[in-house]
Amino acid sequence: MNVGVNLEQSAFLFPDRPAVSEGRVQLTYAQLNDRVNRVATALIEMGIHPGDHIAITYPNSIDWITCYFGVLKIGAVAVTLAAAFSGDELRNLIAHARPRIVFSDATKLADLEALKKEGKIEKIACTGGDIDIRELIKIGSPSFKAVERDRTDTAVILYTGGTTGVPKGVMITHEHVIFSSQSIAYYEHSNQYDRALCFLPFNHVFGQFHIMNSTIFSAGCVEMLPTLDVDRILKLFEEDRITKFFSVPTVYVRLLTITDLKEKLGKLRYCFSAGASMAMEIVKQWKEVTGITIAESYGMTEGMPITFNHFHPEKHVIGSVGQPVNLVEVQIRDASGTMLEQGKEGEICIRGRNVMKGYLDNPEATSAAFWDGGWLRTGDIGVMDEDGYVYIVDRLKDLIITGGENVSPREVEELLYTRPEVQECAVIGLPDKEWGERVTAIIVPKAGCDIASDEVKLFLKTRLSPFKVPKEYIVVSELPKSAAGKILKREIRRQFAEK
Ligand code: AMP
Repeated sequence: MNVGVNLEQSAFLFPDRPAVSEGRVQLTYAQLNDRVNRVATALIEMGIHPGDHIAITYPNSIDWITCYFGVLKIGAVAVTLAAAFSGDELRNLIAHARPRIVFSDATKLADLEALKKEGKIEKIACTGGDIDIRELIKIGSPSFKAVERDRTDTAVILYTGGTTGVPKGVMITHEHVIFSSQSIAYYEHSNQYDRALCFLPFNHVFGQFHIMNSTIFSAGCVEMLPTLDVDRILKLFEEDRITKFFSVPTVYVRLLTITDLKEKLGKLRYCFSAGASMAMEIVKQWKEVTGITIAESYGMTEGMPITFNHFHPEKHVIGSVGQPVNLVEVQIRDASGTMLEQGKEGEICIRGRNVMKGYLDNPEATSAAFWDGGWLRTGDIGVMDEDGYVYIVDRLKDLIITGGENVSPREVEELLYTRPEVQECAVIGLPDKEWGERVTAIIVPKAGCDIASDEVKLFLKTRLSPFKVPKEYIVVSELPKSAAGKILKREIRRQFAEK
């Protein structure tokens, strides 16, 4: 078993269909597979063995995908690091993952040279470094078959924890990637005519598995952008280059501010969101404006996908992340690990071939992440209805405890999003002498709108229990976000707790 077989099979079935597209450059499956084989054989020539770690730090690009499959096909482990990282962040992760080679663009050369001097890496694959990808492509051979790996062998390591704490290296197996790609392609009815936009970074599970790997599995085309750029996204839509759009909720909020949006969408037929709670109001507005329903899935780096909400569009329930994916088990448990009866809120726990092997060199964190029997604790609070639909209440760590009462920020945010003057918001708990935590709403108003906090407060007061109504409203021009576009609540709490 090898993830590289997904690419080989698409190249066998559809050699002339476009596989990857970046700006004006597009490669067919035959061309991509040829390049990948050259990188793979060149890496073997350089003495890389199955199980060796190789890091990739490029931004989303054809080079990124070429290295990735080259590494996987020879059975080495792809350590996929954020292109945005440099300095200490990059050094710490590389020191932790110990890759033999790092593929990078020239912006990180100085950091990488320092690491090489310290003996942390052997070679820098970068223009100006020891060798670059162009040379590998030149010296490698175009024919190569993916080597056989065990289903439990690690294929990739992704670092997680960006929005919650210290990063951990999540070990994902060949079986996991193949399972995820196949489930996603199935639930999305994907085919070889799809063109999937990917501006979400490939080092994150959303960009890497949900968009890129599942598109390669179904022989569609990955249309990539190095970063989120709304003007370029709209241009790609207008050029009829996108049929599937994947994003986190914040980007839908931004796109909804564009005038004549519907006329600018070209061949777009499918819209998807994951990664953070999607306010129901945004799904409704998007449908009204574009005619397209935003489909959702719930997942995380340690195990994905977990649920899907739209295999049968007529059964799509707005506000729910849907039912568990085939072969993925979901249980709602209390803090002691006991399974709760249907309809009760508790921690979402999952088991299946989508679940990570563990955290790299971190047995304590690995054992804390699981209940006995291989049940992964997601750290998310949810509830399941009688039809098996899962509703995310909130992240365990984002719950606000105020005067001894629990407040789910999501509930308050959902209401705020129904206000016409609110573009984006985050509800957090700030330290408070009297309440322990004080419910605080941080709001980005729509252009030209004022937030009259008395009016908003009155609106919330008539709809929420008194302890849930924010005690403070702070208006800001933007909210801090991760490279994947998720609102960073930890960062917001830090900023405002210091004031
Ligand atoms: P990450 O590991 O960075 O992908 O983050 C995973 C976390 O994102 C999950 O534990 C959830 O808290 C959140 N998340 C992912 N998908 C959804 C979704 N559809 N709705 C709400 N939260 C989500």
